[in-house]
Amino acid sequence: MYNSKKYRKYYIKNRERKLRIRREYYQNNRDKIRKRAKELYPKHRDQNLKYLKRYRIEHPRKVRESRRRYAKKNRQYIIEHSHKYIKEIKKSKPLQYRCRLFISGIRQRGVKFDKTIDSKYFEDRITANPYCECCGKKFKFNFERRMDWAIPSVDRVDPRIGYIKNNIGIVCWGCNMTKSWSTPQQIRNILKYIKKYGK
Ligand SMILES: [Zn+2]
Repeated sequence: MYNSKKYRKYYIKNRERKLRIRREYYQNNRDKIRKRAKELYPKHRDQNLKYLKRYRIEHPRKVRESRRRYAKKNRQYIIEHSHKYIKEIKKSKPLQYRCRLFISGIRQRGVKFDKTIDSKYFEDRITANPYCECCGKKFKFNFERRMDWAIPSVDRVDPRIGYIKNNIGIVCWGCNMTKSWSTPQQIRNILKYIKKYGK
């Protein structure tokens, strides 16, 4: 009959030996094992992802703790890796990078924000119309300098309402700054002043 106590004793006694055998087997057959894993991965991918998702939902605390442990142990690696990752994304997918910045910027600002808006929403809008809605300038994605007038930015048309879909305009940074620094009356005054000189 199966005796768990006895088995456990046996296991502890032979643990080192078993681990050593397994390690040796892995080292000797590394290429074979890796190849097999690569073959099997796509086959079980959906199933694995589903299982992981369920696990994350069922054990949020365990997942959080293990993530924290991992972050603590690999802090340096994570910092370096994420810097490198951001640098790469900035170059290879500047639009996606910008749009993700929009979302984090909006969240930090703490104003009213339609939760159904995600970075994909901005991506689609800018792809459909890559020109400033205000001055018609073509958007640029220049990251050499910190800011460029033609970089796209998100504007609350009426700043009191917040980031709601029909209150969001995509304008260049220059227009956005001009608009946020001045009231409509100030802009009207400037226009009146220019007209006075017939320009
Ligand atoms: Zn503009």
